[in-house]
Amino acid sequence: MSQISEAAIRDVVTEVLTKLQQGTVGPVATPAVVKNPGHHGVFEDATSAATAAAGGFEQLQKKGWAARSKIIEIVKQMCADNADRWGQVEFEETKIGRLDHKIAKLHGIRNVLGTEFLNPHGMSGDAGITMEEFAPWGVIGSITPVTHSIPTIAGNIVNMVAAGNAIVFNPHPGGAACAALAIHEFNEAIKAEVGISNLICTVEKPTLDSFNDLCAAPEVGLLCITGGPAVVDAAMKTGKRAICAGPGNPPVVVDDCPGINFDKVARNIILGGGFDNNLLCIGEKQIFAVDQSYKKTVDAMVRNGAFLLNASQLETIKKEVFTFREDDGGCSHPVVNREFVGADAAKLARIAGLDIDPTTEMLIAETAEDDLFVIEEQMMPLLPITQATCFGEAIRMARDSEHGYKHSAMVHTMNVANMTEMGRAMDTTLYVKNGPCVAGLGMGGEGYISFSIATTTGEGITTPRTFTRFRRCALVDQLNIV
Ligand code: NAD
Repeated sequence: MSQISEAAIRDVVTEVLTKLQQGTVGPVATPAVVKNPGHHGVFEDATSAATAAAGGFEQLQKKGWAARSKIIEIVKQMCADNADRWGQVEFEETKIGRLDHKIAKLHGIRNVLGTEFLNPHGMSGDAGITMEEFAPWGVIGSITPVTHSIPTIAGNIVNMVAAGNAIVFNPHPGGAACAALAIHEFNEAIKAEVGISNLICTVEKPTLDSFNDLCAAPEVGLLCITGGPAVVDAAMKTGKRAICAGPGNPPVVVDDCPGINFDKVARNIILGGGFDNNLLCIGEKQIFAVDQSYKKTVDAMVRNGAFLLNASQLETIKKEVFTFREDDGGCSHPVVNREFVGADAAKLARIAGLDIDPTTEMLIAETAEDDLFVIEEQMMPLLPITQATCFGEAIRMARDSEHGYKHSAMVHTMNVANMTEMGRAMDTTLYVKNGPCVAGLGMGGEGYISFSIATTTGEGITTPRTFTRFRRCALVDQLNIV
């Protein structure tokens, strides 16, 4: 049980005991409904949270840009200071991924863009001066995934508050308690240092109903969705503008050309695809190796710590980690068994009766291009590797496996023409060459980070500008002093 829930229950019990002592309730009375159980920004329902956040937005507007910058500073500092504790709390609640990487993601929040990214555009001429500026929406409804609960929330806060907004989160139920804990602590610090309350709100026990209530709340002008196909679909149907950071299934292609360091390729794939046990939406999920590079890549992966499964071990694992619908007819669709999403490589290997070193970061298996591990976004540190006869075929396979999500793709090649050809063919939001996927988010490559990459709706790696409305202000015939 979360700290928040325990404390909330304590509050209710205290209240009921007090009333009992005062004789205002009978001994079998049910506790009163608690709308906001005494925690900063944590609400029982989405409607109350949206109303409170509208109040938070008004307070922020009055305090101006200085308050926005201060809040961003607070959030970034708190993520760094609390990375170990919050990482642990999230790991214990979600039970997926790797603790060290949960902590690393929180440290990454320092690279999220803030107010510095909102430079206005000015024009001056014979007819006067005009300013184009980026205005807030007001209250944003944000849906966050279980794969990175606190990091997505923290990154959203930096981007969205920089743009002048308040936020209501409807987190994934599997990561809602750690979300409420961090949000409570953020609000507590913001209240103490800036004097604003309820700028960041959350629903304590999120459900599909609270999602619907949040989307329908009149205070909410914009939605930000970070998750899989179902939630993106649901958000698109609400009629509200939705920025959708949707699913992916990123391929990595290894070329067969001079100059490739296969040990470096292997280390890059293990780092990116093994990060947080493959929970990253940008993470390498299937490998296509061209001709002679196939064996070199497999050997290098094993040399660098990956464990190579044989065909029967792979089949045994596959039967366990994918489930099939009861009515297994012609159109039945495999579904990833949630129990193994983000599981350690050793746990997956145990399914096949293997007792491997628990520090193993990745399993690999030689497969055909239509294998379930290639087709499905399985989010497990088990990467299929498929041989292509030429670079063109590798691109075709990579493109098919990505399913047109336009999310992420990686390539290892020294051939610039091949890099270009694949970049054009994949048309993905992130395209990383000669590095791990995380280099596309500034970890080992140039650039900033966000945990909401708006692939489905095309805004890309979200920035403060993503969460603004364009406004133009024209003054006619005056102040054009040049
Ligand atoms: P998920 O889709 O199960 O859940 C995401 C959020 O949507 C949760 O808050 C969940 O409660 C909610 N949700 C799910 N179905 C819903 C529905 N029908 N109606 C309303 N709300 C619904 O995803 P997850 O397992 O938490 O995260 C993994 C998925 O998210 C993967 O597909 C991954 O690629 C994607 N993802 C994308 C990005 C990105 O930036 N593009 C970042 C992280 C994760």
